[in-house]
Amino acid sequence: MTIDTSMHPCFSASAKHKFGRIHLPVAPKCNISCNFCNRKFDCANESRPGVTSTVLSPAQAALYLQKVKALVECPITVVGIAGPGDPFANPEETMETLRRVRADDSQIILCIASNGLNLEPYVEELAELQTSHVTVTVNAVDPKIGAKIYRWVRPQPNKVYRGEEGAQYLLDCQLASIHALKRCGITVKINTIVMPGVNDHHISEITQKMADLGVDIQNCMALVPVEGTPFAELDAPEPKQMMEIRQQIRQVLPQMSHCARCRADAVGLLGEANSELIQDALIEAAT
Ligand code: SF4
Ligand code: SF4
Repeated sequence: MTIDTSMHPCFSASAKHKFGRIHLPVAPKCNISCNFCNRKFDCANESRPGVTSTVLSPAQAALYLQKVKALVECPITVVGIAGPGDPFANPEETMETLRRVRADDSQIILCIASNGLNLEPYVEELAELQTSHVTVTVNAVDPKIGAKIYRWVRPQPNKVYRGEEGAQYLLDCQLASIHALKRCGITVKINTIVMPGVNDHHISEITQKMADLGVDIQNCMALVPVEGTPFAELDAPEPKQMMEIRQQIRQVLPQMSHCARCRADAVGLLGEANSELIQDALIEAAT
């Protein structure tokens, strides 16, 4: 697969002021429960992953994309699916959306962000669709630590794992997914949320394991404690601690430092809020 990262605003610091991305919010459900996540908020002014003003069907998303391309000033070079749940807890919607977008535009960069639980079965088709960038969030490579982060892991509707068993199950799926992605030549980014007292002493182990698997880049993000979650009372890491962590692991794996922690329906240049025009187009697309 030929990968041109120079036009991906998240993977290339020089592209972030020139090229825009759109997240299509087609994946509402999630198949794991992270102690830092709350997807119940639905606020147009809140900017963080898991938040969207609405959810679209694949057909609505494809139409909305055409509208948005005409509404924004910057060229949209990347179409991503990042929730508001997990793309592969909603695999039919996710894959159908990617197929439609690719059928309409052979050049656009396709990008996915997942927790990795149910990603592996879809890697080959992702590669066939020329999905060039995939992010997997890995917050622990030790199930004892993972058990503190994940309340439950549900690979199938009638199968739920908890505690270390759940964390081990998730980790095995993540490792298999990353292996398959790299085998298909896909650029892989690892998102890692740094949670003080939970996994902040464990980051270099995660980084080393990911480097061993051949991943391309890591994005360490400070925990943002969100109201209504088990981790609401945890302290967010200080910027100094984040800087030291990145400094320490940079030699092992390149570090991304300009992630804007976008909403699941973000549009345009990184760091810029969705305009009212976009907001209206999104709501209209859903009706
Ligand atoms: Fe929330 Fe993402 Fe975790 Fe699912 S995988 S619970 S959407 S943070
Ligand atoms: Fe890019 Fe980070 Fe925004 Fe995802 S959340 S689109 S990686 S800047």
